[in-house]
Amino acid sequence: MSAQIISGTEIAKAIRSELREHVANLKAQKGLVPGLAVVLVGEDPASQVYVRMKGKAADEAGIFSRQITLPAETPEDELLGVVEGLNADPQVHGILVQLPLPDHIDEQKILLAIDPRKDVDGFHPMNVGLLSTGATDVLAPCTPWGVIQMLLRTGNDPAGKHAVVVGRSNIVGRPMASLLLRKAVGGNATVTVAHSRTPDLPAVTRRADILIAAIGRANFITADMVKPGAVVIDVGVNRVDDDSDRGYHLAGDVAFDEVKEVAGSITPVPGGVGPMTIAMLLSNTVDAAERIHADG
Ligand code: NDP
Repeated sequence: MSAQIISGTEIAKAIRSELREHVANLKAQKGLVPGLAVVLVGEDPASQVYVRMKGKAADEAGIFSRQITLPAETPEDELLGVVEGLNADPQVHGILVQLPLPDHIDEQKILLAIDPRKDVDGFHPMNVGLLSTGATDVLAPCTPWGVIQMLLRTGNDPAGKHAVVVGRSNIVGRPMASLLLRKAVGGNATVTVAHSRTPDLPAVTRRADILIAAIGRANFITADMVKPGAVVIDVGVNRVDDDSDRGYHLAGDVAFDEVKEVAGSITPVPGGVGPMTIAMLLSNTVDAAERIHADG
């Protein structure tokens, strides 16, 4: 039997519409307008598209958005000055510096300069540390946080389940594992994290009730690696060359056509985890605004 398809597009749409309503209430009841600043250094075309999409999504939700575009040769000190300005700006509750940054800028230094309360990407070491100690009032990285929302909203609460995460990056794999492990809603799973040095990976992934692939290799998870009935979440976004006019198509880390015949539920690529990332960025911005507002 074919798996239930989990549509990230639909879930993200629902979250964004709930946020629009919530933001309207915050404005009406507290005079609070959440604000997001996105900083782009250089002219990388993919980054320009992401930044535009984030600004548009914020506007649609009623979130005030500001885009700061700086030339590729901007000195590190100048970027640090921009971040400090945004830290001090009462209209801005979320700061996102689009990565990757040009080589002459130390990414870690920039991430450290962002006020952790405004770190809507959840990459500041303080937020990373808080999340890994199980804190619940913390800004969590958008992609894994979006995966948790997808699970919860499709009746696949991870509590008591065995979740296997393939990938241990700081952006996806590690925070994914931390969220699944938390003693909190969306957590309480038994978590295994696998990576490129894991021997007999299929034996590990076959034990998963919830299998999350964040590997970066097209169609890597095949049907024989999946337990019948498992929930399969595909974080991967990979370009695969083809003969189309565009010259490529996007594929996930999961061999969708064969795995959907074994899994109980599965996310497609595109239209799966991808749209959730922006929805959770908006959600983090609203959470940040409410916490900063409550702190006075
Ligand atoms: P990284 O390259 O940083 O990490 C990949 C991880 O996969 C590493 O931990 C690596 O192991 C592991 N891995 C690689 N090869 C194997 C293998 N043969 N067997 C087992 N594990 C392996 O990637 P990211 O985490 O940044 O991204 C993962 C995927 O998710 C990418 O396709 C990316 O495009 C996508 N992505 C999608 C997002 C979205 O919004 N949908 C957002 C972010 C990422 P090791 O540590 O040992 O090297």
